[in-house]
Amino acid sequence: MGRLAIYPGSFDPLTNGHLSLIQRGLKIFDELVVAVANNPDKTALFTPDERMEFIRVAVNGNPHVEVDTFDGLLVEYANKRGIHTVLRGLRAVSDFEYEFQLANMNRKLDPQFDSVFVMTGEDYYFVSARLVREVARFGGDVSSLVPANVLAGLERKLGRARKARK
Ligand code: ADP
Repeated sequence: MGRLAIYPGSFDPLTNGHLSLIQRGLKIFDELVVAVANNPDKTALFTPDERMEFIRVAVNGNPHVEVDTFDGLLVEYANKRGIHTVLRGLRAVSDFEYEFQLANMNRKLDPQFDSVFVMTGEDYYFVSARLVREVARFGGDVSSLVPANVLAGLERKLGRARKARK
């Protein structure tokens, strides 16, 4: 068995920043489990199934990437899978504080648990899924920030909502 890591997140939706992290992560790990958090968050734009499908299509059947979903505690999911390493991205200083808390909390919950942080490429350090949702909601152009299948998904979901508002 090679080196495995879980890359968890909301991925609502997948962005080019996430994809860049997956590519970088695959230089360090043999396999990544991209795990979509299914938290009962009413503000999510896409369902966990839609989010998983975006990732599957965007990684184009790469055999080193598995797409899964989890709910509840990440450490519990990781334990169940027998994987004790997570991959997380760092964008700006603003990510650091939250990630620092999260990594320490996870280690408190499971002493075996470790987090590996990779910095995003300079093209995507400003991209967040939340920003993509907000810009797309108001009809802004996000075509350079998300893969083509996500762009189509955003148009399907938000284009309809925009038309209904008119
Ligand atoms: P977000 O809404 O911030 O994009 P996610 O929960 O989907 O949130 O993010 C999952 C992980 O991916 C986090 O570790 C986050 O820091 C990282 N990430 C998200 N976007 C980027 C990016 N543009 N560059 C590097 N890492 C990123």
